[in-house]
Amino acid sequence: MRKIGNRKKQPKPKWLKAQIPGGEDYFRIKKNLEKRGLSTICQRARCPNISECWNNYHATFLIMGDTCSRNCTFCSVKSGNPAPLHPEEAQRVLEMVEIMKSTYVVITSVTRDDLEDGGSSHFAGVIALLKARRPGLKIEVLIPDFKGNTRHVDTVLDAGPDVLNHNLETVRRLYPHVNRKPENYHISLEVLRYGHDKGFITKSGIMVGLGETIEEIKETLQDLRESGVELLTIGQYLQATRENVPVEKFYTPEEFEELKEMAFSCGFRGVESGPFVRSSYKANKMYMKANGL
Ligand code: SF4
Repeated sequence: MRKIGNRKKQPKPKWLKAQIPGGEDYFRIKKNLEKRGLSTICQRARCPNISECWNNYHATFLIMGDTCSRNCTFCSVKSGNPAPLHPEEAQRVLEMVEIMKSTYVVITSVTRDDLEDGGSSHFAGVIALLKARRPGLKIEVLIPDFKGNTRHVDTVLDAGPDVLNHNLETVRRLYPHVNRKPENYHISLEVLRYGHDKGFITKSGIMVGLGETIEEIKETLQDLRESGVELLTIGQYLQATRENVPVEKFYTPEEFEELKEMAFSCGFRGVESGPFVRSSYKANKMYMKANGL
């Protein structure tokens, strides 16, 4: 059972006014996703950038269903007993990539602790089909922690994604606050380190506004750097539903700039930091910039 947010929602500051979803391409993408029964994290997480991203042909596909086997209290994705995997999902993602003429795609999933391999082979199948049918397409995978099982991480990496993304989400102290086991902080860092040691570009993200201190943010960034992470996103946590934990602080755009400087001083090669920054926000741009392309 989810913990219910116990405080009245704070009014949003003026810099957090999201664009109402719209635009010709937005509706075209929505219709095509619905036709194929595909989910995106853009919709499930009620991302404020959906209009901007979709009208620029950028979306993040959510594979393996819309129900997560875990229950993090910052997340608006439904939790419960996930449905069986859909064998046609890879083909449907491919069709969407073709419709959107994508050159860079982000694939993420719900956590599937119910599956013997955590869904890693399904993930790999999607990557493999995209690589076979869209040579030149850059693929970023935003994976669950697979409980730290490196065999499952290998299954995904062996399919050859271009970027391995795995979010740390928040600082170590707040893991229990968001209904995560304290040891998961370390497990996530180990997954990232494993990917880095295998030669992959690794990326991670945190949300701020959950009650962390600046010192804790710095410690988290240092932990990520020590695990070899090169690309980082920092965004404002927003309470999507009454069942999510409340926002403790709204950072100003100026504070996000300061966090960006802090991240660069820690040694990250690419950083996006801002109120509406999400893990996959401008993912293509960050990849290109970090690689001097
Ligand atoms: S930032 Fe990511 S999740 Fe949000 S709309 Fe863009 S692609 Fe989707």
